[in-house]
Amino acid sequence: MPSTSAINKMPPPSYSFPLTVEGTRSGQEEYSTTWELTPRSTAMAILNHGDTTTANGSSPADAAAVAPAMPSLVQPPLDADEFRRQGRLVVDFIADYYTRIDEHPVRPAVAPGFLARQLPDTAPARPEPGDDALAAALRDVRDLILPGVTHWQSPRHFAHFAATASNVGALGEALTAGLNINPFTWAASPAATELEVVVTDWLGKALHLPESLLFSGGGGATLLGTSCEAMLCTLVAARDRKLAEIGEERIGDLVVYCSDQTHFSFQKAARIAGIRRGNYREIPTSRESGFTLSPKALRAAVRADEAAGRVPLFLCATVGTTPTAAVDPLRELCAAVAGHGVWVHVDAAYAGAACVCPEFRHAIAGAEAVDSFSTNPHKWLLANMDCCALWVRRPEALTAALGTDHDVILKDPSSERDCGRGVVDYKDWQIALSRRFRALKLWLVLRCHGVEGLRGFVRAHVRMAAAFEDMVRADARFEVPVPRQFALVCFRLRSAAAGEKRARDGDDAEPNELNRRLLEAVNATGRAYMSSAVVGGIYVLRCAIGNSLTEERHVREAWCVVQEQATVVLAAAACTEERAVYSARCADAPAAVPPVQNEVSLHSFLNS
Ligand code: PLP
Repeated sequence: MPSTSAINKMPPPSYSFPLTVEGTRSGQEEYSTTWELTPRSTAMAILNHGDTTTANGSSPADAAAVAPAMPSLVQPPLDADEFRRQGRLVVDFIADYYTRIDEHPVRPAVAPGFLARQLPDTAPARPEPGDDALAAALRDVRDLILPGVTHWQSPRHFAHFAATASNVGALGEALTAGLNINPFTWAASPAATELEVVVTDWLGKALHLPESLLFSGGGGATLLGTSCEAMLCTLVAARDRKLAEIGEERIGDLVVYCSDQTHFSFQKAARIAGIRRGNYREIPTSRESGFTLSPKALRAAVRADEAAGRVPLFLCATVGTTPTAAVDPLRELCAAVAGHGVWVHVDAAYAGAACVCPEFRHAIAGAEAVDSFSTNPHKWLLANMDCCALWVRRPEALTAALGTDHDVILKDPSSERDCGRGVVDYKDWQIALSRRFRALKLWLVLRCHGVEGLRGFVRAHVRMAAAFEDMVRADARFEVPVPRQFALVCFRLRSAAAGEKRARDGDDAEPNELNRRLLEAVNATGRAYMSSAVVGGIYVLRCAIGNSLTEERHVREAWCVVQEQATVVLAAAACTEERAVYSARCADAPAAVPPVQNEVSLHSFLNS
């Protein structure tokens, strides 16, 4: 019988022939299958079935021809040579995409259903005939799918906090997918678990986290997919710890706290964790305090709940809120709830990354007192999606809530004996059993860029954001209503720029509408993509700089786009106002005023 390595060394088949087998399955259903036989697939079949076929006297080759496993041999799903060839196709495809990414409008101009209309209703029964199926699929990615994606890696994508990509981040994902292991326990893949332990400590040190959150300081960390999971896992840990103290029947008394700027994921996590909707305290923030959570208001809320017989459970503070990247004052917030048994979690999904730079360490001053801290290296630390690091001060609280002890299959005697106590079984730190080998990617990023490399990356974006902010401030039509934080600039057209009437009225509704139109106009150009937030009743445009391909020239061009579109939108607004005045004066003859329905007609009206 040939060995596997001998088969792998066989030259590519110079010929093949079809073999059709017909029969009846289960005595009823008729079937007919055709295989394309090559010397190599036949040899593999002999290898696979050699030990079962000679008993009835037939030759291994005969048996191979009718063996039920044959179809998978025609197109082996895992084949090293083919992987090499196909891998090159994909790598070239991605590299070409990055080379030409700037040619795509950042946001696609497509209507719902555009793709479904172009694809068949059912999956193909067989691979693409003739041509290489993967090459054909990649052509579809280019021609059908790419025209309908929002290009998150575009250097002109400023809308959301970035999902930063890097060569090693992407290739780390490929490596993880290629090894395709499932390290749910230490024994299920010892090196994967140990790498996660090492790399989360590395990252924690790089971010200047307190020692008490690191493995080396008695805490510990894991890599999850998202911040929402981090919130849910820590909330469940806090809940179970508290219920063990006060009795499970009091779950309805548990109260959680956050600000009106906290990411909505926390509300979802609270619902999943069984917190009553009425016990979700969203404490209002104000423009005066930079939209940060007030320790005084928190203290008052906690005391009021206690006085009413409820049980304060959990605070979700944020370092870098989604609307404006506001930073909640951790030290003061921890002091406000000290002695009340409240678990303090810090959601630093975006801005945690900035703490690689010592000059931003102040953002997490007081973190020594928090119970848990999470950040997404996939947002601003070059680790392609997905990757959320969660550190906890007392891992045992997490494992007490999420650990399982009934997994008979996982408890094979040898792993029980060898593992003993003290190893990390990451299945007990998360919701699901199965998990990805994310540590590999993060380790590659840290190894290949180094902490200094990451600092340079973050600082470059902060510098570009400062330059954008300066440009906004230099144009009298605009204002920066909240201070820039990190690399996020929130800005808007001033009320005065919107017209005298608006300035006089001091009413936000019309300026808000004007700014909404400005954002739509900017995004419709395809040359820049930004987003918006409403904070303290005012509508702001968000320019979040953080993509790996963004350079200063893209930021300058984006500002030019904003200025151009502002001119158009303001002219249209002024025109509408003049028309309103005119209409009021000519109340007797309103039909004399040409109808204006939308921006497009306003535009043509202006140009007519
Ligand atoms: N928290 C903050 C501050 C965020 O900005 C975001 C998303 O941008 C999230 C949480 C949600 O992150 P994830 O999608 O990882 O759950």
